[in-house]
Parts: sequence; C-alpha cells; structure tokens
Amino acid sequence: MYTRTRGMGLETIFDRYEAQQPQCGFGMAGVCCQLCSHGPCRITGKTSRGICGATADTIVARNLVRLAARGAAAYTHHLEELADTIKATVRGKTPFTTGDPEKLREIAAAAGLDTAKETGRLAEELAGMMLAELRKSSRDPLALVKLFAPKTRVPKMVLLEVMRT
Ligand code: SF4
Repeated sequence: MYTRTRGMGLETIFDRYEAQQPQCGFGMAGVCCQLCSHGPCRITGKTSRGICGATADTIVARNLVRLAARGAAAYTHHLEELADTIKATVRGKTPFTTGDPEKLREIAAAAGLDTAKETGRLAEELAGMMLAELRKSSRDPLALVKLFAPKTRVPKMVLLEVMRT
C-alpha cells in the first residue's frame, strides 16, 4: 500500500513524520503543560515548576492520564456505533448478518448474559448492555470494566479509587 501510495504521489504519515523532525523535546519528554491559560509552561534546567507550581512529575502524570482518557473517550464512539449497528442489523435495517454467532455467544457469556437466547435477541441484549454501560454516570460501577479488565489489576484500581464497585 505504501509503494502504491507513493507511486500516486500522495503524502503519507511517514512523510509528515519526517517533516516534523526534530520533534519538540519538551513535548517528547512530556514536560510541556497547556492545561490552563497561564501556560504553556515547560520544565527546563532553569524552571523546575510550572506557573501554578506543578512539578515535572505532576505535568508528566497529568499529560499521560489525559492522553489515555481522551483516547478511551474517542474509542467509545466506535463502541456506540458498533452497538447501534448490531441493533439495526437485528431489525433487518442493515445489509449485514451475524457472521459468527459462536463468537457472539462467547462475548455474551463473558459479559454475564444468558446465552440460551436466540441469536438476534442475544445480540440486541449485548448491544443494549454496551450502550447502557457507556451512558452510566461516573458515580456508577462499570460492569464491563469489572468483567474485562485484567483480574490482577482490579483490586489495585479499586484501592486507588479509579474504579467503583
Ligand atoms: S503548569 Fe500549571 S500554570 Fe502552567 S499551563 Fe500547566 S496548569 Fe497552567
């Protein structure tokens, strides 16, 4: 694909990466903060804190958490589209079919649903569960996180209060 794209004279991600070199060292190290209108602040040999007093550790940690949260939030849109498409498919409103009913049952079983149901009903129930999880308030326990997060991490996430039970 890369060769074909180049052959067509189109710019690729690789061209844009090269054009960005050298990338900003403060950004690469995560010590640039643009969280508020006092900034942007950066940690240098001369300045060990941002204007608000944030240290390099604070800035790096905040940047990392915000990047992860933004990425996760962006991907919930994919999950929402998927769930809506499943529901529409069950109702015959898309050209799609359930290509792998066994996979559906496997995921539904992992989500704690009764897999004895007819395939369409089960698909709709799973889609409904996904949508309900996405729309929960931040105060409600997240069933899907509890079910699918690595089991070894759950106690730690509960301890650190990043996961409600
Ligand atoms: S380091 Fe503090 S003052 Fe500077 S931009 Fe970030 S939050 Fe604002």
